[in-house]
Amino acid sequence: MAARHAETIAAVATPIGEGAIGIVRLSGPEAISIVDSFFMGRHSLLNVRTHSLVYGRILNAKGEPIDECLVGVMRAPNTFTGEDIVEINCHGGRLVVEAVLSLVLEAGARPAERGEFTQRAFLNGRLDLAQAEAVIDIVRARSPRGLYVAARQLEGVLSERVRAVREKLLHAVAHIQVMIDYPDEGVDELGSDELMEELTSAQGALEQLIKGARVGKVYRDGIRLAIVGRPNVGKSSLLNALLHEERAIVTEIAGTTRDTIESSALLGEIPVTLTDTAGLRETDDPVEKIGVDRTRKAISSADLALVVVDGSRPLTEDDTAVLEWLQSEASTIPIIVVVNKCDLGIVVDLEALPQPKGRARVVRVSALSGEGLQRLEEVALDVITGEIELEGAPILVTRARHIASIEVAKRAVSAAIESLELGMTSDVVSVDLQESLEALGQITGESVAEEVVAHIFAEFCVGK
Ligand code: GDP
Repeated sequence: MAARHAETIAAVATPIGEGAIGIVRLSGPEAISIVDSFFMGRHSLLNVRTHSLVYGRILNAKGEPIDECLVGVMRAPNTFTGEDIVEINCHGGRLVVEAVLSLVLEAGARPAERGEFTQRAFLNGRLDLAQAEAVIDIVRARSPRGLYVAARQLEGVLSERVRAVREKLLHAVAHIQVMIDYPDEGVDELGSDELMEELTSAQGALEQLIKGARVGKVYRDGIRLAIVGRPNVGKSSLLNALLHEERAIVTEIAGTTRDTIESSALLGEIPVTLTDTAGLRETDDPVEKIGVDRTRKAISSADLALVVVDGSRPLTEDDTAVLEWLQSEASTIPIIVVVNKCDLGIVVDLEALPQPKGRARVVRVSALSGEGLQRLEEVALDVITGEIELEGAPILVTRARHIASIEVAKRAVSAAIESLELGMTSDVVSVDLQESLEALGQITGESVAEEVVAHIFAEFCVGK
């Protein structure tokens, strides 16, 4: 556990703007005395019990009133940061909150850096690194499921799993150490069986985590979905229908190019960024060519492409051009062929559709009536999550950083098992296990470089 910080930090903890309340938060050894210096309440803050809320007024240096407020006093060590924390709940206006923050800074606090409250919680041992990351994941959650997974991570569920695997590996390392230290005793059959069992069980636990991780990452980061097709097949209608279906349109932002529109929505419980693109027609027209290039770029950065065709008409050359390009070597993303306008009757020859390769599927929908949209959603989810068997593989891992560490750890454990099977010397096995331990320690923060920690907290906002 790191030593407590000498400096007291302060920041506005609520969004700047008009609101019911605005909160200025302080953490550090001087937090209580700093606020007490300009706070007029029935009691001095210096004497109130921990975790109490005190009503009073805030006065500026000239003794003029700034606001009436409720001040929360929480004394170390049972606080979020592990230090004394004071939260000034004032009225939620830009000027008043800024005035209170200025008073706090004049009285000796320094402005907090991004994520510094949570970083202190980590440094003071209140949270491990995975839990600290969960704080930002809660703030940024884009779907109820993403929020749930993050909240469980904050509770320490992921950390517990990781520690349990570390325990097994530490046990195995100790076991091997005995073999190295007392070579004359020989490795009895039972001993090496036990070791193998421990390693296999650790390997299994890591595999389970990796299985759930692929889906977990989708819930956290969402997916990019490109809607492609020639003009008039109903791309915009489909986009709107998908957004309307979920009633969760968040933003409508111009895409990176003039030809693409991006919107955010929830597809089921998965956050998606939908990109409506222009056509993909082969052309000699230079202007059109630029559009096509941009479309291809937009598609290439997607996780899944919905290729829309008009089911009420025969396929045109443009439809085929889109499908063929998507199936060419130039594109590797999975596709779903969406046969739209099925309310008008199906005229398009489905058999004539270029046979989708890999995991591509064909779904009939009507953007107009809503028919088939549910099915489309299911198929999209299925394609994205692949054939992952989720049973018994809880979704605990969502971050790329964690997934990478777990994969390194798993590879190292597998290598250790292999070395053991090949009858390698114990120290070879031991090296693999150390590598695995190191990788797992990076998740919870036991063995993580300072730059990585700094990078993680830089993602936060000020006041968190
Ligand atoms: P886009 O150019 O591919 O974006 O196509 P739009 O979404 O603008 O749709 C072109 C036309 O087809 C519009 O008149 C829509 O009302 C119509 N349309 C779109 N989807 C359907 C559908 O499922 N059924 C029917 N009957 N018409 C549709």
